[in-house]
Amino acid sequence: MNQPSAAACGAPGPDAHPTMADRGWLAVACRLAAEHPVEGTGLAAGVVVVADDGTELARGHSREDSRAHAEEVAFGVLSTTETRLSGATVYSSLAPCAQRSGDARPCAELIRDAGVRRVVTALRDPAGAVSAGDGMKLLESAGVTVIELPEYARAAMKPNRHDP
Ligand SMILES: [Zn+2]
Repeated sequence: MNQPSAAACGAPGPDAHPTMADRGWLAVACRLAAEHPVEGTGLAAGVVVVADDGTELARGHSREDSRAHAEEVAFGVLSTTETRLSGATVYSSLAPCAQRSGDARPCAELIRDAGVRRVVTALRDPAGAVSAGDGMKLLESAGVTVIELPEYARAAMKPNRHDP
């Protein structure tokens, strides 16, 4: 299997219509998850944040550091002065969560408040695996363009199937 490549897949699509670049970047996010499975009951997700010119701004996967969720990891490495976020697209193998226990902020809110323009995911509702509200709905109602590419659902769920 190829390593997730830092090579650009191209500029994200301009609107709600997924492009080849969108599919390429989502595939990178799915590979990040697949290469970093999570032990126990946690979900493995991969995230790539891409500026509107196709520059990769950040990437992350679940449990990469003390932060549990891939989106937190990716946004954690971004400077708060990163102006390119406002036009960016977030590729997340699993839909961002909308509810969390404790002090941690839901990933959908992190994405919304960053001013991200589009979010592309493989799996809006990973078979009930995300019992954390509908992050895509939260983003949609905030005016973010949300796109689901179900053809990547299998790849996104692969590291989350704990059968032999
Ligand atoms: Zn989350």
